[in-house]
Amino acid sequence: MIESFIGLEIHIQLLTKTKVFCNCKNEFTHVPNSHVCPVCMGYPGVLPVLNEEAVRKAYIVCRAMNCHLNEKAVFDRKNYFYPDMPKNYQISQFNSPFGVKGLIEMEGVPKVRIHDAHLEEDAGKLVHEGMTSYCDYNRAGTPLLEIVTEPDFKKPEEAELFMQNFRKMVRYLGVCDGNMEEGSMRCDVNVSVNFEGKGLGRKVEVKNLNSFRHVKLALQYEIQRQSRMITAGESVVQETRLWNDEKKRTEGMRSKENANDYRYFPEPDLPPYCPTKEFLAQIDAAQVELPWVRKRRFIDEYGLNEDGAEFLTEEKEKADFFENAVKGGISIANASSWMRGEVAKDLNKAKKSLGESFLTVEKFVTVIKLLESEKINAQAAKKVMDIIINEDADPMQVIEKNNLMQTADSGEVEAMVDKLLADNAKVVAQIKGGDQKPIGFLIGQLMKTSGGKADPKKARELILNKISQLG
Ligand SMILES: [Zn+2]
Repeated sequence: MIESFIGLEIHIQLLTKTKVFCNCKNEFTHVPNSHVCPVCMGYPGVLPVLNEEAVRKAYIVCRAMNCHLNEKAVFDRKNYFYPDMPKNYQISQFNSPFGVKGLIEMEGVPKVRIHDAHLEEDAGKLVHEGMTSYCDYNRAGTPLLEIVTEPDFKKPEEAELFMQNFRKMVRYLGVCDGNMEEGSMRCDVNVSVNFEGKGLGRKVEVKNLNSFRHVKLALQYEIQRQSRMITAGESVVQETRLWNDEKKRTEGMRSKENANDYRYFPEPDLPPYCPTKEFLAQIDAAQVELPWVRKRRFIDEYGLNEDGAEFLTEEKEKADFFENAVKGGISIANASSWMRGEVAKDLNKAKKSLGESFLTVEKFVTVIKLLESEKINAQAAKKVMDIIINEDADPMQVIEKNNLMQTADSGEVEAMVDKLLADNAKVVAQIKGGDQKPIGFLIGQLMKTSGGKADPKKARELILNKISQLG
C-alpha cells in the first residue's frame, strides 16, 4: 500500500486600502504602473513603513487558526532576482513570523496543523505579448499572507474541501475577498508518496493552482505519477512543477530551491513587530464563528439538513440574515425555504448579493409574517419580494399599491367565479361530465383575474361548490 502526504501553501491578498510598506493604493486597475512609488519600485535609499491594517488582518487570521503568536515577529529579506520584483528581494518573515503552530479542525478533513503564517509583499506581474514582455508593478508591495500547513492531508478531496472552507473563513473574517480567478487567493501544494509506514517521501511542489478543481486534479495526477515511479523502483526528484490544465498534467519547472538559496537576513529597515495586549484584545474581538462551526450549529440548533445549512452559511451575511429573520419571529422553515428559493432566484436575476440588494431583514420578516397569517398568499409574497429586492420600497405600500391583500370577505371572489364559469361554459360542462382535469385551468384563471388576491386553497372549493350549484 502507498500513502500520500499533502501540504498546502495558501496565499491570500489582504483587503487594505494601501500597500504593505508604502501609501500606494492596493486596488486592482487595468492601467499598468499607475499605483507605484519609489518604495514599491525599489529605488535606492527609500524606507518601508509597515501598514497597521495589514498587520491587524494578518493577526486575525493567525488567531482564527489557533496559532501561537510570536512575542517578537521579525521581517526578513528573501533575496532572489526576477523581473516582476524590482527590489531584487522580497520583504517576508522567516525565522519568527506572526503566527506558528496553529491547528484547524473541520468535518471531512483530518486535523490540519498550521506550520506558520507570515506576512510578505506580493510581486508585480509580467505581461507577455509575442516576443515582448511588459512589467506591471501595480501589484508589487501589496500585502500577502502566506499560510503553510503541515503535510496532514491524505487525499486530494480533503485538500479541496479544506480550501473551500478556508476561502469561506477568510471571507467571514473580512480579510480577503477570496477571488481565485483574480488571484487574490492562490494555492501551491506539496505532495509526496511512500510505502505505508515509511513516512514522508520526497516532496514535489505544484504551483499556480487557481481553482479548487485544479488543486484536486493536480494532486490526483501527482499521486498517480509518483506512485508509479516508486512502485517501479525509481526515485522521485524533489522539484517544483506547474499544472498544465490543457494537457491535464503537471510539468517540471525547476529543481526545488532550499531556504539557503534565498540568503534570508533580518530586514534592517523595519523593527521587529511586538503585539501589545491592547492590540491582541482587538484581534480577539474581531473573531467570528467560523463557517464550518456555524454550519454544524445550524444543523443541530435549527434542524436544517446538510444542503440547507451549507447554503445558509456560505456567506456570513446570509447566515446573519437567516438568524435575524428567525429571531424576528418567522418560522425556520419559511426563513430557510424563502431564502433558498425566491430570494436566491431574484438576487441571481439581479446579479446582486444580499447586501447589495434593497432587501433588509425587517422587510423580509414583514412579508413572511403576512404570508404566515394568510393576509397575503404565496403568489403575492413572491411579487412583493421581487419588488423589495430590486427597489427601495416599503413592503406594506407595495402590497396596498398592487392590491395584494387576500380578500377577506369572499363576496368579491365569488363574483369573479360566477363570471369565470359563465365565460367558460364548455369547461364547466366537461367538469360536470366527470372530467376533473380542467379545474386547474379555472383556478389558474381565477388567480390571474384576482391578481393573486384569491386564496388558491379556497378557490378550488369555491369553484366546485358553484359548479354543483349550477344543477
Ligand atoms: Zn508604492
